[in-house]
Amino acid sequence: MSEKKVKKDYSKIEITEELIHKLPKTELHCHLDGSCRVQTLIELAAEQKVKLPFDDVEKLREHLEVGDKAKNLGDYLKGFGVTLSVMQEPKAIERIAFELAEDAAKENVRYLEVRYSPILHINKGMRLTEINDAVIRGLSKAESKHNIKTGIIVCGMRSINPETSLRLAEMTVAYKTRKHMAFDLAGQEDGYPAKDHQEAFALILRNNVNVTAHAGEAYGPESIKQAIHDCGAHRIGHGTRLIEDGDLLNYVNDHRIPIEICLSSNVQTKAVKDFKSHPLRIYYDYGLRVTINTDNRLMSATTVSKEIYLASKTFNFNFDDVCNIIINGFKSAFLPYRDRVVLLNEAIAELQTYGFESTYIDDKAAAM
Ligand SMILES: [Zn+2]
Repeated sequence: MSEKKVKKDYSKIEITEELIHKLPKTELHCHLDGSCRVQTLIELAAEQKVKLPFDDVEKLREHLEVGDKAKNLGDYLKGFGVTLSVMQEPKAIERIAFELAEDAAKENVRYLEVRYSPILHINKGMRLTEINDAVIRGLSKAESKHNIKTGIIVCGMRSINPETSLRLAEMTVAYKTRKHMAFDLAGQEDGYPAKDHQEAFALILRNNVNVTAHAGEAYGPESIKQAIHDCGAHRIGHGTRLIEDGDLLNYVNDHRIPIEICLSSNVQTKAVKDFKSHPLRIYYDYGLRVTINTDNRLMSATTVSKEIYLASKTFNFNFDDVCNIIINGFKSAFLPYRDRVVLLNEAIAELQTYGFESTYIDDKAAAM
């Protein structure tokens, strides 16, 4: 006769932002050009003689933080013109990549995937490879200094022509053994369907490279369907409107396709009316592999710790739920499976020291 296991009462563990800060975490959806330190932007602008809208840290911060100022995704994307104006030199890119990984490490993010579109950094004539090399240098430096592992995702842009996406895909393939490169499609969804960029995705998939795609943020579930079925996405960025198509939702759930949720960003771009209207709770209860991310640390004035805290308060997630969402992040990393298992097991062991009781029987099954 087997002994009946009593489920632990997690209500006794109070969820605070301090507690979440201490827990090991992942950050899978984070844009390099949306996650710079404001002070750094000002210093780089002075070095490069670039004019910013403000030279004062607080004024520039206020200008770049979106808050409730944006009416839609297009408005939200405007601040990127400012950050990109000083991200046209390898040294600047290296510094920003390093600082982003350092900021993430300081809030105990143990695995960070940074995404950017090299094509947005060529205004001063930098070669695409130079941009990639600079990001790799910055991230590697952070890895040697802090307890963090990093990966890179190259973004094709929906609003830039498909030929450019193909060029970026070719470069991603060439770099695939360096920092576990993956390919993404970002930018305005409405009017720029993912399937136009199918050739780039086909090249990526034929070369066994990982795929994620921004979908179902500013446009309905059709966009998610295209990302999965026409572009072969292994993960979905946002997926906010997946809730509108039950059949597709089941497909995503059955195939354990991770959703990269970015709560603050979704409220700010008006993908959802307010935090309470976000489908995260339903997704979680239904069993979807949801992960929590920042999208843009600067524009959304946030961190992974803040986003998880916000989720726990908005949707009444207890400590068990928080740990499960964190574990989903480790399971969804674009790392080779064997490396993922190691990182996941380390994270579970650490979560247990805070009171989490793992229900996994088999370590390997847990990472699937
Ligand atoms: Zn994004």
